Amino acid sequence: MRILLQFPEGLKQEALKHAKKLESEGNEVIISASPTFGACDLAIDEAKKVGAEKLVHFGHSEFHHVDFNVEYVPYLIDAPLDVLPESLRQLEGMRKICLLTTVQHLHQLDAIRRFYEESGREVVLNRPNGFAKANGQILGCDDGNVMVIDRSVDAFVYFGGGIFHPLGALLQTTKPFLAVDPFQRRVWRMDEMRETYRKRSRGKILSSLKSRNFGILVSTKNGQYNMNLARILKKRIESAGITAAILISNTLDFESINNMLEFDAFVNTACPRIAIDDTDRLRKPLLSANELMEVLKLIKEGQKPRMNGGL
Ligand code: SF4
Repeated sequence: MRILLQFPEGLKQEALKHAKKLESEGNEVIISASPTFGACDLAIDEAKKVGAEKLVHFGHSEFHHVDFNVEYVPYLIDAPLDVLPESLRQLEGMRKICLLTTVQHLHQLDAIRRFYEESGREVVLNRPNGFAKANGQILGCDDGNVMVIDRSVDAFVYFGGGIFHPLGALLQTTKPFLAVDPFQRRVWRMDEMRETYRKRSRGKILSSLKSRNFGILVSTKNGQYNMNLARILKKRIESAGITAAILISNTLDFESINNMLEFDAFVNTACPRIAIDDTDRLRKPLLSANELMEVLKLIKEGQKPRMNGGL
């Protein structure tokens, strides 16, 4: 069988090992060298181009159904759990917690849950919105029902490395938010980051108010493509008397987008995290769809006083 292998950046270092194993089983193997961001970003076009019968995607679980033969090989990490006791001190007085983790640690979730239950706590798991597949699992773009859970728990506990995965959930919630990082052996409160990101969002909105030309970014990645939303946003912008154009790309290259000097602001319809994590990579404001709506609302409100000699 001819197979195309696809790895996220952190696993590309193991590509040759997997290719040789599959070759020794009689397969013809080709490795995708393109950047890979998630299971939203399957290399189906490359697989079809090389005539592969199967795409083997490493490191992520299924994101959504596609009409191609895809095998998902999640990458499980047995992270040390000896950092958990340290979190109890910071959870003092907090009886009910919501536990969150990534696909890499889902197999450890039962053990982590038991640990907190044995400490006398009630543990609840979030229910994903469909892109993540298991209770308790979060993705950068799927925080599940954490907003609802926020009303009933005393704290959130994220188990895993980095801030990419928990940041979305953090920004949807109000309760104390603990990150238990087994790799850095560190337990820390992420709460303060909420205010930082809120201020940043407000800054982007305010600096977009005088924009006359908006670029709406669409990605052709299979799980990120949202031309319908782009068309709706274009109409909304134009009905406010402002110019808009839809810009399409596979992987958004911020250097190229920075060269599009006619645009005063950009709106993201691709991976929702782009308008949160990548704003510093563009010289112009990079808005989410919700932030754009806020801009249009403020412009509309601002027009009335302007007509009366105000704003
Ligand atoms: S957060 Fe972005 S890159 Fe990650 S799975 Fe979701 S859409 Fe893809």
